[in-house]
Amino acid sequence: MADVPEVKEVKIATPPASAMTILAHPDDAEFGSGGTIATWAQAGTEITMVIVTDGSKGSPDRTLTPAQLILLRQEEQARAAKVLGVAHVVHLGHEDGYLQPTIALRRDIARVIRQYRPEVIITGDPDARFGGENYINHPDHRAAAEAALYGIFPAADNHNYFPELLAEGLEPHYVQSLYIQQWGDGSTVVPVSEEAMNTKIAALAEHKSQFDIKDVEKFVRERTAEIGKKHDQPYAETYRVLVLHEPRSVKEAAAAEAEQTMQETDAVAEAVKEPASVGE
Ligand SMILES: [Zn+2]
Repeated sequence: MADVPEVKEVKIATPPASAMTILAHPDDAEFGSGGTIATWAQAGTEITMVIVTDGSKGSPDRTLTPAQLILLRQEEQARAAKVLGVAHVVHLGHEDGYLQPTIALRRDIARVIRQYRPEVIITGDPDARFGGENYINHPDHRAAAEAALYGIFPAADNHNYFPELLAEGLEPHYVQSLYIQQWGDGSTVVPVSEEAMNTKIAALAEHKSQFDIKDVEKFVRERTAEIGKKHDQPYAETYRVLVLHEPRSVKEAAAAEAEQTMQETDAVAEAVKEPASVGE
């Protein structure tokens, strides 16, 4: 595609201080990025997992009500997050299966970004419609990724977007890097050790309502090993990475924003001191 720059040299990612996954369903983070999360959490990264939908459609069992399924999947997600060493799990609770990248969802995403203030955000690829020759990408995956992109920019980092968030005390936040999960080759790989891979599998195994781990383990290991092999690693997960703000520019942007807020406060104070005359 025209907008994808040619990858000259694949980069090896280093663990950031904090990261946030923004994905549609319980288990999406484990499938796409379980090795990354396990590796980074082990290195001390503070990880927040944002699950956009409530997972209420994910079962063929007719004896389970959607409300029961939502609770069950939240419990599974909590256990999986614990296995991975995730610090925070946030469920945005949008209805599973019908997700759209609406302005309301963009605001919800901007809100959690401003609350948890991650350096790095991991999301899916909103352009990925198909996988190989036998898989239609779930529309929720694309919708969550699309909303995540525009929640980061131009919403989380601009005080003029969703002023109700400022009223909640949530200052703009500049995300440094965006990691977009890739099924094939990406611009950046996260090496995954044998131990981190075992953790990924153990976390996936907690999603018992979704699959038997015995049915998916082989596929997950093979796919992750295939990527690892290209980079002399036991396993690896790949991403297209956009560097949105260098660490220094994040500080400068935050300082400029604070300066502007002070000027606005001064202007308000001036206006209060000298009220404009009305009706002349
Ligand atoms: Zn999913």
